[in-house]
Amino acid sequence: MRLNEITKHPRIVIVGGGFGGLKLAKALKKFDGEVLLIDRHNYHIFQPLLYQVATGSLQAESIVFPLRKIFHNQANVTFVYTNVTEINSASNTISTTDGDISYDYLVLATGSDTNFFGNKEIEHYAMPMKNVTEALNIRSMILQNLEVAFLEKDLEKKQALLNFVIVGGGPTGVELSGAIAEFKNHVLHKDYPEQKDANMKVYLVEGKKELLAAMSTEASVNAKQNLLDMGVEIYNDVHVKSYDGELLMIDNGTNIHTKNVIWAAGVMGKVPAGFSAGALTKSNRVQVDHTNKVHDHRNVYVIGDAAAMISLEYPQGHPGVAPVAIQQGQHLAKNLMRLTKNEAAKPFVYKDKGTLATIGRNKAVADLGKIHLKGFIAWVIWIFVHLMSLVGFTNRLIIFLSWASSYITYNGANRLIIRRFNTKEMKVESEAD
Ligand SMILES: Cc1cc2nc3c(=O)[nH]c(=O)nc-3n(C[C@H](O)[C@H](O)[C@H](O)COP(=O)(O)OP(=O)(O)OC[C@H]3O[C@@H](n4cnc5c(N)ncnc54)[C@H](O)[C@@H]3O)c2cc1C
Repeated sequence: MRLNEITKHPRIVIVGGGFGGLKLAKALKKFDGEVLLIDRHNYHIFQPLLYQVATGSLQAESIVFPLRKIFHNQANVTFVYTNVTEINSASNTISTTDGDISYDYLVLATGSDTNFFGNKEIEHYAMPMKNVTEALNIRSMILQNLEVAFLEKDLEKKQALLNFVIVGGGPTGVELSGAIAEFKNHVLHKDYPEQKDANMKVYLVEGKKELLAAMSTEASVNAKQNLLDMGVEIYNDVHVKSYDGELLMIDNGTNIHTKNVIWAAGVMGKVPAGFSAGALTKSNRVQVDHTNKVHDHRNVYVIGDAAAMISLEYPQGHPGVAPVAIQQGQHLAKNLMRLTKNEAAKPFVYKDKGTLATIGRNKAVADLGKIHLKGFIAWVIWIFVHLMSLVGFTNRLIIFLSWASSYITYNGANRLIIRRFNTKEMKVESEAD
């Protein structure tokens, strides 16, 4: 099949096999037409567990699933492995690195990217964590800098290698700080018995007055106390001014010498070219109507992190979380089937089932409507929800066994340096990803 040849009308082209695009393609099982699912990776990533890959608790393969395999039993879906560069809605085509593809309906489910707010120096030196490559980069950075630290004679240079700074106190920053602090508290002395006096430090820097600002006050306060108990130094209500690969400067006058900065402080929509500036929000999300259709673009829809469905309840659009993407994918599948039968599309309504964040072993927070849970019970709910949300029985089994073993031994088994860490080279690899 040549990509631009439509074998069966109507053709729905979905760009992105993440949470939203995958749900949409699956929900189109009964659609009597052609579905092309396009992704620049040949796998679906379970992003909520990236931090465990970055800290060596889980192997990367356990949180990804091959997209082609998912559709073995769905004949109307064809997977295309390419990168979409531009949408051309006047001609109902998209440009890809492998040629143009035409569509009857186009759905962008391209997710989001790290937002460095235009600071090129920080972008160059700080490590983002949005995909598997970046999580593995962080793993290499942590492990390799520890090894280098223990050979370093100069005490100032050694401390810079042992200082870990996480910027951004949302769920990702809190989870990462907790996981690195657990590494320091439970693994360091086992892996490096000769380094009993190593002064590894974990810092968390957040611009808002509290951590987990999108959650309840109970959750924010609890998460902060848990991290403090684990030895994390927390700076709230401050901003990082600069980072040059050696020195991190905060606007309260604090300077931290560090070779390890992980940036979890912001996200922006990731969308191909082809939209006017007016169609995009400040955070680069595409503005859509209440059915996820892009204003002034015929038959073009955007779902998930890349979409901003602005309403009184959600003046910035819905939160960038997996349930929004999944529910929009599910809802849009029904609407597209209605439209192909000349029926009217129905508006999307988000059902918020709650928010969870984990801080470490036996430590998590959960906001479930008016109920706020913390500690062991919240942690068990977090484990259950994440295991059930994973794609593929084997992945669930591998992760369950890894967690069970780590729970007993406090000792994950994936602390491997599989490539040399070098900020400049790593960034090139990430950008190409
Ligand atoms: C570290 C981390 C932790 C998170 N933790 C949680 C959590 O605990 N709970 C929660 O609910 N949410 C969490 N999220 C957010 C959640 O993962 C996102 O909200 C969700 O993935 C959005 O789904 P999506 O379908 O919009 O995009 P994604 O799932 O990001 O999928 C986008 C897909 O599009 C593909 N793509 C992008 N551009 C192109 C292109 N030009 N051409 C071809 N393919 C392209 C990508 O390869 C990717 O497969 C986390 C995110 C991160 C990064």
